[in-house]
Amino acid sequence: MAHLLELEDVQTHIALKDGVIRAVDHVSLTIDPGETVGIVGESGSGKSMTALSIMRLLPRAGRIAGGAIKFKGRDLAELSEDEMESVRGTEIAMIFQDPMTSLNPVYRSGWQVGEPLRIHRHMDRGASIEAAIDLFKKVGIPDARRRVTQFPHQFSGGMRQRAMIAMGLSTGPSLLIADEPTTALDVTIQAQILELLRNLNRDYGTATILITHNLGVVAGMCDRVAVMYAGRVVEQGTTDDVFEHPEHPYTWSLLRSIPRLDAEAHEPLKPIAGSPPDMLHLPEGCTFRPRCPFAIDRCGVEEPELEPVRSQLSRCWVTQAGRSLDGAS
Ligand code: ADP
Ligand code: MG
Repeated sequence: MAHLLELEDVQTHIALKDGVIRAVDHVSLTIDPGETVGIVGESGSGKSMTALSIMRLLPRAGRIAGGAIKFKGRDLAELSEDEMESVRGTEIAMIFQDPMTSLNPVYRSGWQVGEPLRIHRHMDRGASIEAAIDLFKKVGIPDARRRVTQFPHQFSGGMRQRAMIAMGLSTGPSLLIADEPTTALDVTIQAQILELLRNLNRDYGTATILITHNLGVVAGMCDRVAVMYAGRVVEQGTTDDVFEHPEHPYTWSLLRSIPRLDAEAHEPLKPIAGSPPDMLHLPEGCTFRPRCPFAIDRCGVEEPELEPVRSQLSRCWVTQAGRSLDGAS
């Protein structure tokens, strides 16, 4: 089966006064139609920059410095801004952590949710509002006919996120990128939004990239997972393999920080020991070495590549040498 999306060795750089941050460092990743793939990692590990690179919505100081991002066979980096605008409006939808900043406060919700349909499907105003009402019903917003006449501030956080999801799905995209879609929400609402995303994936076959700092969320949602650390993918595989036998010490540490594997998404995580690296001054060798309980001499000297270990990929000298992470399972 042809991949829906294929990131090949993507490098995204952010130019700062003091140097260049390699926010996305040689990332390769594929998504097949209908799949749900998780990208997980601590804050600052490059998850959002990966998503924004796909969407070509990088901050001003950011640029894609290398690699290819192929969507349905076309390299998105080579599209004109108009063509990319059309891809964003119809084929790839993105929803963000805070739905208040992505909804315009001065427009009624139904008008906004219907906007992609007016722009890209040439619907008139009335048809777009009727479509918004149907979309609100699909995403579980009660009293849809009245709700479309309301403004974003009249919605709760969870309802705003549902409205954002409705807008994203309006044109029937084949890929949805959800960047920490529940982080800003109350715990009970988080579970409801994840349930909605799961149902939409099942009912409409929309492939989903789910970005989260929470491996518990990945366990309940994703077919495959990529674990990011300091801009790099350090482990990648099916969710089952990665959870059953993590082959990178960072993943191993994250998994140990989950109270129980079947934990609810809202149970707090224990942070792992040590702090994330300074992206402007990365350590020699493996970037995780300063926090790694398994490090050997080689780890401080040479950086490992992402290589097959058992049934997944891992960027770790220890597991690549066939040693197991004791107590990992
Ligand atoms: P994540 O989403 O995993 O928390 P990001 O992708 O947002 O991480 O950030 C990756 C790296 O890029 C971070 O180290 C951060 O310092 C840097 N970065 C992110 N956004 C900006 C920005 N607007 N300007 C400068 N640096 C940024
Ligand atoms: Mg982020």
